[in-house]
Amino acid sequence: MRLPQSRPRPPAEGRPATARGSSIPFLKTIRLEEPGRFAAWDTEPPPAPPAGHALVAVHRIGVCGTDLHAFSGNQPFFSYPRVLGHELGVEVLAVGDGVSTVAPGDRCSVEPYMNCGACIACRRGKPNCCAHLQVLGVHVDGGMRERILVPATKLHPSGSLTFDQLALVETLGIGCHAVDRARVCPGEYALVVGAGPIGLSVIQFAREAGAVVIALDMNAARLSFCGQLGVEHLIDASKEDAQAALLRITDGDLPTAVFDATGSQRSMMGAFNFPAQGGRMVFVGLFQGEVTFNDPNFHRRELTLHASRNALPGDFSRIIRLIESGRIDTSPWITHRSSLAEVPGVFPGWAKPETGVIKAMIEV
Ligand SMILES: [Zn+2]
Ligand SMILES: [Zn+2]
Repeated sequence: MRLPQSRPRPPAEGRPATARGSSIPFLKTIRLEEPGRFAAWDTEPPPAPPAGHALVAVHRIGVCGTDLHAFSGNQPFFSYPRVLGHELGVEVLAVGDGVSTVAPGDRCSVEPYMNCGACIACRRGKPNCCAHLQVLGVHVDGGMRERILVPATKLHPSGSLTFDQLALVETLGIGCHAVDRARVCPGEYALVVGAGPIGLSVIQFAREAGAVVIALDMNAARLSFCGQLGVEHLIDASKEDAQAALLRITDGDLPTAVFDATGSQRSMMGAFNFPAQGGRMVFVGLFQGEVTFNDPNFHRRELTLHASRNALPGDFSRIIRLIESGRIDTSPWITHRSSLAEVPGVFPGWAKPETGVIKAMIEV
């Protein structure tokens, strides 16, 4: 077996950030070389945008669980080296031929899901689960750099959102799509298991749909944050029996919609005990392994189980409108900040639960 090379190849058209002295205006790129190690590179600016594309300046990069798992080396189907960054607030600098939806100067959120346009999912209006999906910052290099080229159709502009807000749209999209999967109705009890950023985005849209939300977690700090956001019912599963608490809260019915945003096998398998008779479950988080459940329990309740992956293009414009109108306020979510250059130093701390990161935002 060959050992990995100790000196990785630089990114295309790049060189180590320490080698200065050229007249070419190099740009900064931060790349995750292998689990646990970032490196800074100077990279040549991208070329002028080809037809249908836009050259954008990256201003904000939100950090989420996918990035932290990639850093820790436990993200399924992840290869190194990789430029992370899929939650992006950007400004259009130039557009290629045939682009009419955005213009230079526009501030945009980026839909980071590059789909093929031809597979069965794409043909049926589900580009979020394209058979050949390439997510920026996950399967292909993403936005932890000063400039990127993106297809113009993946840019969602707003005249008033800040770059912070634009970078949070993708995270909100995950919750938006998950709640749509369950077709949440006004007045029903919706249980959200796991109150990290993904759980928070589910909570946001479950409330928007009129549900009475119950948040369940084992982390008291996360639950108290949910309480500050006005979540009606909180269950600390490290202190009380979740099933008993759900029966008490719902007057013996159990919740009719259950979302698991933990990505934990144990939690997801346990979640089959939480829905009411005839209820729905949505697995928002994921892990690499098997989920098993007791079939009589599943059948007796006539449960419906949905997976939820990414978000739809229309979710981005809907979320931008909701933030513009003030119906969604994500400002309390951002707990940590750094500059792009500081990422190699501060990122290891963000990966530790005791740091208490809800959402870290990188400024470029
Ligand atoms: Zn994310
Ligand atoms: Zn496709």
